[in-house]
Amino acid sequence: MRFSKLFVPTTKETPKDATLPSHAYLIRAGFIEQLGSGLYNFMPLGKMVLDNIKSVVKDEMDKAGAQEVIFNFITPSTFWKESGRYSAYGKELLRFKDRKENEFILSPTNEESAVEMVRNKITSYKQLPLHLYHINTKFRDEARPRFGLLRGREFLMKDGYSFHEDEEDLAREFDLMHETYTKIFTRLGLNFRAVDADSGAIGGSGSKEFMVLADNGEDDIIVCDKCSYAANIEAAKRSKKTSKAQKPEFNMMSKFHTPNINTIEAVANFFKVDKFYTIKAVIKKAIYEDKSEIVVFFVRGSDELQEVKALNACGALELEDASIDEIEKAGIVAGYCGPAGLGENINFYIDSELKGERGLICGANEKDYHIIGFNVLSFKDSRFKDLVAVQSGDECLVCGGKLSITKGIEVGHIFKLGQKYSAPMNANFLDRNGKSVPFFMGCYGIGVSRLVAVAVESKHDEKGMIWNKELAPFELIIIVSSIKDEEQMKFGEEIYEFAKNLGIKVILDDRNERFGVKMSKFELIGFPYAIIVGKGLKDSKVELITRDGLEKKEISISEIKECIKELLS
Ligand code: ATP
Ligand code: MG
Repeated sequence: MRFSKLFVPTTKETPKDATLPSHAYLIRAGFIEQLGSGLYNFMPLGKMVLDNIKSVVKDEMDKAGAQEVIFNFITPSTFWKESGRYSAYGKELLRFKDRKENEFILSPTNEESAVEMVRNKITSYKQLPLHLYHINTKFRDEARPRFGLLRGREFLMKDGYSFHEDEEDLAREFDLMHETYTKIFTRLGLNFRAVDADSGAIGGSGSKEFMVLADNGEDDIIVCDKCSYAANIEAAKRSKKTSKAQKPEFNMMSKFHTPNINTIEAVANFFKVDKFYTIKAVIKKAIYEDKSEIVVFFVRGSDELQEVKALNACGALELEDASIDEIEKAGIVAGYCGPAGLGENINFYIDSELKGERGLICGANEKDYHIIGFNVLSFKDSRFKDLVAVQSGDECLVCGGKLSITKGIEVGHIFKLGQKYSAPMNANFLDRNGKSVPFFMGCYGIGVSRLVAVAVESKHDEKGMIWNKELAPFELIIIVSSIKDEEQMKFGEEIYEFAKNLGIKVILDDRNERFGVKMSKFELIGFPYAIIVGKGLKDSKVELITRDGLEKKEISISEIKECIKELLS
């Protein structure tokens, strides 16, 4: 490729909302452009990186025995009604009608389509297992699309769906995908970790997320300093927390006058106890398919509510902050809400670690009063759920080591779905005993377009992006310093042809531009290597620059071809 022919509409202006390097650089370097909120076009350089990622993903998926198909982007809503997800998915699902009033959705994921593709076609265990995948457009009407390609509304995903005769074979495929994803993200040159995950709206019994460790990540990951335990904070567990702080002594449970003491800090100060011995009420408005209601979550005063755990506890589609008005209307006394004697009609959950705990302080559900010496007994088991956000310093449930929090970006997610979709959609086969049973399924996603941005987040400097050889649109750029200098142009062409013939992805910067302009473009775009053919040519020398670190080396023209071979072929 010749740079003079390549469509690279670079811009000096960084969009106002581009707070992350990946977002700013990909736009400035002309890889992508924004069309609307969470909507991006890919221009040639961006498309090349995307294709490089796709081909690594495809290569490893094919090697693992999966078969590539295409599920339609537009899916008739009937299938989503069969699975029950049409109403359960919430506002991220874009639903629309055609001219004949038929209902459709833009696929945010394709479990239903995958079930539809195999049901009534695979009828016996003898035809199993089967793994189908595609790399295709997804649409999710995200509440807050941001960070460029990291959280778009329209994006590219690899999603695969596997079908099995039993749990055991599903577990085998799950492990195979764990291995396959490890190979993919290693080839992409990323620093990643597989972590325990919440199964979210897709549902199922077990799941792992692949997280690239990055300071700008949106996800909090809990890791143990001693063993290999790692989990998304949404699913993280810890050993039951204890406290060394002095436990308050109460002879019996009683009501205590606490005027204007309506925060946990104030309660702890007032009674001179550690917040650990208090109960905090977090009041939320839960949005369900057909209604919304106030739900109260009780956790220790020293803990924070984990929103995804809370959402799973009450089974709502979404949780919103409740306004003072809504809280009062529900009959709750804000600032004094506690589990003891809370109104019959109010839905509430208590963190499991509080079960059976004694001698605590909580709101009395009466203005200016708290209850002291409260024992968390006599609640139904179904009230107790894991609700707390694991904190840095908590104890590992597996080995007792110390847990800490680090930031990550989710690039892949593998799930054991079991019969969650096949059962409601009546996708059955005859098993070894001649019994008709729903398929056991797994599903496996990779954020292909997100990975373009993740690669930049993982490696860049103050001048621009730094691609590795596998992902780079071109591995080598040959910069002819002055195209008017015939000697320079001739030698530039010669090594360009040489590299091309070796099968190296090479680009010749043959533009009539100042040398400084060409260099800054190389630094911004971030090709792994540059060869500068400039004034040194008179002394039979060219310069080799490694983008990572911008290290420069003079090389004699008699050795440059050997050097290219060694580096890149
Ligand atoms: P997140 O927690 O980041 O919202 P998710 O759990 O909703 O992601 P999955 O349903 O597991 O995502 O989708 C599989 C993969 O698709 C994710 O691992 C991620 O890499 C990618 N992905 C999900 N949502 C987006 C998005 N809005 N923009 C770009 N990529 C996305
Ligand atoms: Mg996920």
